[in-house]
Amino acid sequence: MIIHSFCNSCMSRFDIIVRTDEGHLITKSMDEDGTSRCPRDCGGRINLRNDPSINNLASMMKAPLLLTSKEFYKALGGMGLPDEIPNSVELVESLLKSHKVADVLLEDVGGRIYLHELRLENGSTIHLASGGHGAQVLKVTRNEGRKSS
Ligand SMILES: [Zn+2]
Repeated sequence: MIIHSFCNSCMSRFDIIVRTDEGHLITKSMDEDGTSRCPRDCGGRINLRNDPSINNLASMMKAPLLLTSKEFYKALGGMGLPDEIPNSVELVESLLKSHKVADVLLEDVGGRIYLHELRLENGSTIHLASGGHGAQVLKVTRNEGRKSS
């Protein structure tokens, strides 16, 4: 089954492939009204039940991002959508070298300083996580219509 969903805030479209053994990931993410948070974390809602009227409206918008249930579930948990996860060192390097840092998200925990996000002047945000080799680039998001956190 494929769920054709559409965000009421950032207008992103997601085609989520639901295999029978992954249905629980969708059920777990869905509220009583059949929607969930937008996996782009824009503050909007997406439908997790197919709705012909939404399909008609959505078909006039940009092409959908095809997701598996697992990819959808990971994105809801903050791990990034496939198009937000950078796949090359060169891409991140050029992003960092060509745009000034406009803002940062830092946290002081017991005197240790942690860096979570680098917000660049072009509207991109580089999200960092701690990995086995050091600071890991978790995802790169765009600023459009995004809630400030
Ligand atoms: Zn959205």
